[in-house]
Amino acid sequence: MLKIGVGPSSSHTLGPWRAAARWIDELKANQKFQKITEVSVDLYGSLSLTGKGHATDIAVMLGLSGFDPVKFPIENLNDVISTIISEEKLKLNNELEIPFFPKRDIKFNRKFLEFHPNGITFRAKLNNGKKTSSTYYSIGGGFVVQKERKREKQKIEQFSHLPFPIEKGTELLAYCKSEGKSISDIVLANEKSLRSEAEIDNSLKAIWDVMLGSMFIGCHTEGKLPGGLNVQRRAFDINKTLISNNEYKNAAEWLETIRDTEVKFRQILKWVSCFALAVNEVNASLGRVVTAPTNGSAGVIPAVLMYYLVIENHDANFDDVRKFLLVSGEIGSLFKKGATISAAMGGCQAEIGVSSAMAAGALTELMGGSPEQVLMASEIAMEHHLGLTCDPIAGLVQIPCIERNAMGAIKAINACEMALDSDPAHAKVPFDKVIETMWETAKDMNNKYKETSEGGLAVKVSLSDC
Ligand code: SF4
Repeated sequence: MLKIGVGPSSSHTLGPWRAAARWIDELKANQKFQKITEVSVDLYGSLSLTGKGHATDIAVMLGLSGFDPVKFPIENLNDVISTIISEEKLKLNNELEIPFFPKRDIKFNRKFLEFHPNGITFRAKLNNGKKTSSTYYSIGGGFVVQKERKREKQKIEQFSHLPFPIEKGTELLAYCKSEGKSISDIVLANEKSLRSEAEIDNSLKAIWDVMLGSMFIGCHTEGKLPGGLNVQRRAFDINKTLISNNEYKNAAEWLETIRDTEVKFRQILKWVSCFALAVNEVNASLGRVVTAPTNGSAGVIPAVLMYYLVIENHDANFDDVRKFLLVSGEIGSLFKKGATISAAMGGCQAEIGVSSAMAAGALTELMGGSPEQVLMASEIAMEHHLGLTCDPIAGLVQIPCIERNAMGAIKAINACEMALDSDPAHAKVPFDKVIETMWETAKDMNNKYKETSEGGLAVKVSLSDC
């Protein structure tokens, strides 16, 4: 559920990037790669309607060029893309030079494919006169599938051997009860059946490093965001005001410095918002963030975790970070299994709503809540995001997206506090029911509000107003 990627969107940037890489693997496996003479790409549905603002074309070119989204040096992005455009050539997988004219070879089709709103077809001409093509679907959170879902079947097979297979919140709570364990213990036991504890820790440390790094970079970068909306970055000024004249040299020292600042209610609100804004400003400028569970919602989880580290518990360490990420990941995966984490399927409730639910539950475990209170907090957070639409202006992941992360983070903290003060036995809305409700709401939602930029703010506010 949590992966290192590049902004601005998991479904529209990271997904297509990975789909391109998957297609190259497929071509190589079928011995077609060396025969390629031409390549073209068709983007369908939501990938087409908001693809320009979400940098889908850029992601496709980087994926075809063989770059890894986790390691690609972001500072080289403009150079790589302008070279492809000016030379009208692309080095496929950094091996095979082919002619490539982005305006001609990447087609934005308004048509929706039946299987999923985010369809992408790669086509190639081969030197023997034959053609080949493959279609992928970017289903949210950077996950990519093909219609026959071969890989999904392999994964289901792999996950069927988990000590604690989990499809629903009730099953998770039953394991916690029967084993006398916390949610993070159960998730860790499952993870350990797939990889070593050292690998788990290394991955989670890398994820936290990118989260902290994106907050730090966002809080220390001034100016306007790219894309034409002229959105001013705000985290820089908020951080400057709150941190005052205190000095620090890097992200770790910055974190310690924040612990020493005055934090009354208003400052807490400002800090949490600042962390969330910072991440999403980095995301909007195609920077490196953690998809959590998507890039549009990448700021909520780091902001709430940072809140715990700098406000709630100054003695917190990596053990707390590990627990937080394990619990939040499990909650996100329950939403993915029971509903969706794709805004093209369910609007913003699937992005900010899910990230807020993930963060609320994870914070509740760190704050000493029982497993039942953890899921109650997640339920509360989602309950108050139900029906939230996706209507990004100009297809850019900026308005309403950036501020929405601050709101999702604050709601998560509030949901946690309410759950900690409640007896889950008296809860009227079970966690699994809110997932079902979210999915029903997603299906009822008008397509205008599913990452198409054809409704809401996207049509009320135009680029010229900005
Ligand atoms: S409105 Fe919400 S779902 Fe839509 S792009 Fe923005 S953050 Fe993502």
